[in-house]
Amino acid sequence: MQLRRTKIVATLGPATSSPAVLKSIIAAGTDVVRLNFSHGSPADHKQRAETVLQAAKEVGRHVALLADLQGPKVRVARFTNNKVQLHEGQEFVLDPSMDLETGTEQAVGLDFPALGKDLNKDDILLLDDGRIVLKVVRVSEGKVHTQVEIGGPLSNNKGINLQGGGLSAPALTDKDRADLITAAEIGVDYIAISFVRNADDMHEARALLEKANSNASLIAKIERAEAINPVVLEGIIEASEGVMVARGDLAVEIGDALLVGVQKDIIKHTRRLNRIVITATQMMESMITSPMPTRAEVSDVANAVMDGTDAVMLSAETAVGDFPAQTVEAMARVCLGAEQHHKAYKSSHRLDITVHSIDESVALSAMYAANHLEGVKAIICMTQTGKTPLLMSRIRSVIPIFAFTPQAETQRRVCLYRGVITHPFDSEVLDNAKVNHIAVEQLKELGVVQDGDIVLITKGDYVKAHGGTNTLKVVRVGNHIQ
Ligand code: PGA
Ligand code: MN
Repeated sequence: MQLRRTKIVATLGPATSSPAVLKSIIAAGTDVVRLNFSHGSPADHKQRAETVLQAAKEVGRHVALLADLQGPKVRVARFTNNKVQLHEGQEFVLDPSMDLETGTEQAVGLDFPALGKDLNKDDILLLDDGRIVLKVVRVSEGKVHTQVEIGGPLSNNKGINLQGGGLSAPALTDKDRADLITAAEIGVDYIAISFVRNADDMHEARALLEKANSNASLIAKIERAEAINPVVLEGIIEASEGVMVARGDLAVEIGDALLVGVQKDIIKHTRRLNRIVITATQMMESMITSPMPTRAEVSDVANAVMDGTDAVMLSAETAVGDFPAQTVEAMARVCLGAEQHHKAYKSSHRLDITVHSIDESVALSAMYAANHLEGVKAIICMTQTGKTPLLMSRIRSVIPIFAFTPQAETQRRVCLYRGVITHPFDSEVLDNAKVNHIAVEQLKELGVVQDGDIVLITKGDYVKAHGGTNTLKVVRVGNHIQ
């Protein structure tokens, strides 16, 4: 039985708000549900989170919740007629002093009044994910005068990016601070911070999270040009539990041609530092309106899998698309196929470093045995916080890692870790001498292993202790297991 290792994040939206459709995308393989705080009220998100957990329960799968904060996306305001047509060569003014509802073909309001301060003559502004290109001619009294380089239709609230990055807006807006508290109240497992500039943005988010008494893990969205500087990136990764390669905005800032290489670097860098990584945006874009992915999309998803991403993400495909369940199904199928490629078996992860914790040394030993000992079919990892399975899953392997845990929170959190499968299990209530035997029997019942297979078991002396993993046991199914 081949179990899928790469996880699928699906964004909720109008297309997936009904319990029936939600159940269908969860049954099709969704591991993490993204609540996009760019849309909807706190009450909507609370309601959606409840529906998700209920649907997951009914389907019998574990699903984690990820709240994605909007961040300081700079946007044009609105037009009197909702939409205008811009023509190459004409002048167009971004005017923070203008009424927000009365944009015209000549000028439009702005929700980020300080934009002009960050701009210089000849800077290039990309609107609507780069569909419209404006060149800055001059800034006077906060008004940004531009010349249209590439025209086209421009409608209400479209995003503005500065080519090369450098807009100074801090990552957490007042709305984000309020939304972070809402997310903490909902009890989400992950919170994604948008437009992170540096590690300090993440430290600030962490402080807010602690104040809100939340255990959520933080994901830094890498979508600004300045965040991909290797030193800055390393700081951001270390200040987070994981990152997202947020290709939508990132490609606009750095240019699409550099994106693929940058994606590979970010994934590698993140895994090397024992953090998790999500690859996001336009992965199955054509499936918004078509029941089948293009070859290019299949190739994109497979490449991210081969790069070692923990998860691949769907945005509009599941939020507003016509085929949400089919998209998740197609993505799951492509992940499984890519995981069969021989590269998936090899790993040189942290082979040349000294580790400083006992649990990491046990995790690495287990993975060495898993990848080199003939006959290993599964790893049982008795865990409270999910830390040992996280460390294990940084290493490429085809052997499934089962997180045996009594903690509901951990059962959800590991849903984002590549190669890790949740298995509710409370060793505390069992006879200590029989725990290993019972655990292996449960895998046998699931059809994962059979007599003669080898199973690796890791645990601590006191299973309740956090971070106390100090034992690796190698057992053969069918033999007397102690
Ligand atoms: P978004 O983030 O969908 O919230 O913009 C992802 C991205 O920019 O790729
Ligand atoms: Mn983005």
